[in-house]
Amino acid sequence: MQVTCIIIHMRVSQYQKEIINLLKENHLLSIADIHKKISSANYSTIYRNIQRLVDEGIILKRIFGKNNVLYELALGDTLHGHFLCEKCNRIQKVAIPKTQEVLGDGYVIQEYLITGLCNACTVSR
Ligand SMILES: [Zn+2]
Ligand SMILES: [Zn+2]
Repeated sequence: MQVTCIIIHMRVSQYQKEIINLLKENHLLSIADIHKKISSANYSTIYRNIQRLVDEGIILKRIFGKNNVLYELALGDTLHGHFLCEKCNRIQKVAIPKTQEVLGDGYVIQEYLITGLCNACTVSR
């Protein structure tokens, strides 16, 4: 019984490691994206592991537009905002201007989202 528990625990952390590695290579991924790349795990296993990483503060859950839920690493990167193109739905990292300095202490930027048309979509309009 105990041996079974250890094996399950090891397998879970292996998936978490794989999820973290995928997010190191890709800025933002959905659960479906991650599931496609870790095909040996079933969907609910992936979901559970992602949820645990979110609870532990290792990855962040981001919601863009209409229920487009994506995940990104919380560690190893400086704080950045997102630009969402309303036409092609591409999401890019953007630097956050000195908002924090303007607001002063006591404010924490959790979401910083700009929407509009990206360069490519502006040209093709
Ligand atoms: Zn675009
Ligand atoms: Zn990001």
